Amino acid sequence: MPVRLPFRPRRDAYPPDLWTKCPGCAEMLFNKQLDKTLRVCPHCGHHFRISARMRIDQLVDPGSFVERDADLTPVDSLGFVDLKSYPDRLLAAQLATGLRDAAVWGIGTLGGKPISICVMDFFFIGGSMGPVVGEKVARAGEAAVAERIPLLIVSSSGGARMQEGTYSLMQLVKTMSVVERVKAARVPYISLMTDPTTGGVFASFAVVGDVNLAEPNALIRFAGDRVSAGTIGEELPPGYARAEFWISHGFVDRIVPRAKMREELIALLGFLIAPSNGHGEPPPSPTSRPRSFLNALTGALGADNNGEARASEAGQTRGEASNG
Ligand SMILES: [Zn+2]
Repeated sequence: MPVRLPFRPRRDAYPPDLWTKCPGCAEMLFNKQLDKTLRVCPHCGHHFRISARMRIDQLVDPGSFVERDADLTPVDSLGFVDLKSYPDRLLAAQLATGLRDAAVWGIGTLGGKPISICVMDFFFIGGSMGPVVGEKVARAGEAAVAERIPLLIVSSSGGARMQEGTYSLMQLVKTMSVVERVKAARVPYISLMTDPTTGGVFASFAVVGDVNLAEPNALIRFAGDRVSAGTIGEELPPGYARAEFWISHGFVDRIVPRAKMREELIALLGFLIAPSNGHGEPPPSPTSRPRSFLNALTGALGADNNGEARASEAGQTRGEASNG
């Protein structure tokens, strides 16, 4: 029988593997309960950050996701050392997340419709975008064009990855050029911005979707408060970096709670994908159609036969997308 010592340290009342403290309302939340609510606080609605794999599980049809390019691995081309060497940092992130880099992409179905999806993972070096993340975003876009299926990119990133220097900055050009090709092919692109979407990801593909969605209270901005205020030479209004600010300024089209995200996306796809014309041919030129961007997009895809055009509910929909 074990001896019970009177001076044994008291067990933590809330072991971290069982409980999580909500940063929104300071409530202690039981992890199993939190998983059931898709990691959203049931008391205050705080949306916890989630991994790429959990995000994919929450969005696509169960069992439909097939990952592509899972073996793409970053390299330390600059021999970069900050507090740790970059290879050490990568190894630690890979062991902690089970990923090779901060993005997962592949093909799945959503409400029965095929979709090319790329999801970033903030738990891998802050979801930072180096050449591998940029390449995955680009390949997701290229597959969307090649297979004429919609593109969904879920952003969760601190921006470009400094350990890969200029190679990371080049990803802004690369990802944007692919997004432009997606648009030229009139394939729908939905961008979902989650907490946080900042830096080079904000400055490239995240805010130029045909439809830009965001999770409630997501941090969305290019740079920190001091840098932003210094650049434009004036104080920024409180809360300017949150999704709710951006929706009132046209950068975000819809703010969607996580519990409603899947059905929202299914509704949007039903709206964006036209029924097949039976010949598998591209639709007529958009110049002969009404100028509304949704009308221009409707008919872009000839793949689906049972796409009832479910009008998305009223509420926070804005008339036009913010892409210019
Ligand atoms: Zn809370």
